Amino acid sequence: MNDVDCIVIGAGVIGLAAARVMAAREREVVILERERQFGLHTSSRNSEVIHAGIHYPANSLKAKLCVAGRDLLYRYCAERGIEHRRCGKYTVATSTEQLQMLEKIEANARANGVVDLQWLDAAQVMRAEPQLRCIRALSSPMTGIIDSHAYLQSLLADAQSSGATIAYGTEVTALRPTPAGIEIVVAPDADPAVRAQFVLNSAGLQAHRVAASVVGFPAQYIPNVRYAKGSYFSLSGASPFSRLVYPAPAPGGHLGIHLTLDLAGHARFGPDTEWVNSIDYRVDPKRAMVFADLIRHYWPAVDAGRLSPAHAGIRPKVSDAGEATPDFRISGPEEHGVAGLVNLFGIESPGLTASLALAEYVAAMMH
Ligand SMILES: Cc1cc2nc3c(=O)[nH]c(=O)nc-3n(C[C@H](O)[C@H](O)[C@H](O)COP(=O)(O)OP(=O)(O)OC[C@H]3O[C@@H](n4cnc5c(N)ncnc54)[C@H](O)[C@@H]3O)c2cc1C
Repeated sequence: MNDVDCIVIGAGVIGLAAARVMAAREREVVILERERQFGLHTSSRNSEVIHAGIHYPANSLKAKLCVAGRDLLYRYCAERGIEHRRCGKYTVATSTEQLQMLEKIEANARANGVVDLQWLDAAQVMRAEPQLRCIRALSSPMTGIIDSHAYLQSLLADAQSSGATIAYGTEVTALRPTPAGIEIVVAPDADPAVRAQFVLNSAGLQAHRVAASVVGFPAQYIPNVRYAKGSYFSLSGASPFSRLVYPAPAPGGHLGIHLTLDLAGHARFGPDTEWVNSIDYRVDPKRAMVFADLIRHYWPAVDAGRLSPAHAGIRPKVSDAGEATPDFRISGPEEHGVAGLVNLFGIESPGLTASLALAEYVAAMMH
C-alpha cells in the first residue's frame, strides 16, 4: 500500500480546482477519477455562466464563494487566455407580480455586495434587444460565459505542473479511517490501494455514496440527496439576443428557462427541473413544446421547430424541509469526527463560478 498526503476523489471542476491549490502548496496530491476523462459529469453539463452572485441568500456559502470565485475566475481566464466573455444578463419581469421578484433580487444582490445592477424600462430593453418583451428588466453587467472545458483542462495542467497526478478508471469503493490515515479501496479490489492523511470527497452526484462507504461513518452527517435533472434545447439559426436573458425566478427560487449563449454566439435554452431517481442524461424531445410555451412569455416570436434537444445536467439537491435554496454543504472533521476527511455535498450552481474560491476554502480545511 502506498502512502500519499492528499487524495482527491473526482476530477470535476471542484476536485481539479482543489487539487491545483493543494499541489501549489507543495502537498502531494493524487486525483482518483472513475471515468476515463476529467469533467464528464456536472462540470460539462451546465450553462457555462459566470454568475455575478445576485440570487443566493446573504451570508450563505453560495453567495460568498460565488462573489469571490467570480472575481478569481475572471482574473484566471484573463491570465491563462481561457475564452470567456462578460456579456451581461437581463432578468426580465413580464407581469407586475414579477416586478416584486426583481426588487427582491436587487436587494439581495446589494446584501451580497453586488452593486452594479441597473434597472431598464421596456423602451430601453427594446432598444438593446428588439425581440425581448418585458415591462422592466434588471441588467447585470458582471455576468458572463466561459469555455468550461478549457477551464478544466487548465486547472488539471496547473495541478500536474505542481506535481499532482491523476488516475483515471479508478473508482473509490470504500474508505477506512485508521490511526495512521485513511485507507482507500478502489474497484475491483478488496484491499486498500493507498493510504492518505487527507481525503477530499468531491465526487459530485456520488458524494453521498462515497461518504456512506466510509467504514463507521456517522449516518447523520450524510444528507438526503435528491437529483434534479435540467435539460437544455439549442436554437437553430441566429440568436435573437446578444446577452443572457433570464425570466424572473419562480417563488421557490428556480431560475427559470433562460437563454444562454455559447462563445460562438449560439443560443440555448434551459435548464428545466425534473426530479429523477437515476443518472440519465437523455433529453426528451417532447419537452420542446413546454419550453416554447415558457420562452414565449419573454420572446413572443419563439418557434418550437427551431428547438432541438441538447445536453442535460443533474443537480445534487440537499434541501432541508422548508429550505428553498439549499446551501453548499461542506463537512469536515469538526462536524463528523473523521480526521482528515472533507465531504462536499450539494455542489450545484454556482459551483463552476465559485470553484476557485471553494478550492481555497477546502484547502484551508485540509491543512
Ligand atoms: C443543469 C446545471 C446547470 C448549471 N449551470 C451552472 C452555471 O451556469 N454556472 C455555475 O457556476 N454553475 C453551474 N452549475 C453548477 C456546476 O456545474 C457544478 O457546481 C459543478 O460542475 C460541480 O462540480 P463537481 O466537481 O462537484 O462535480 P462533477 O463535475 O460531477 O465531478 C464529480 C466527479 O467525481 C467522479 N466520481 C464520482 N464517484 C466517484 C468514485 N466513487 N470514485 C472516483 N471518482 C468518482 C465523477 O466521475 C465526476 O467526474 C450547473 C449545474 C447544473 C446541473
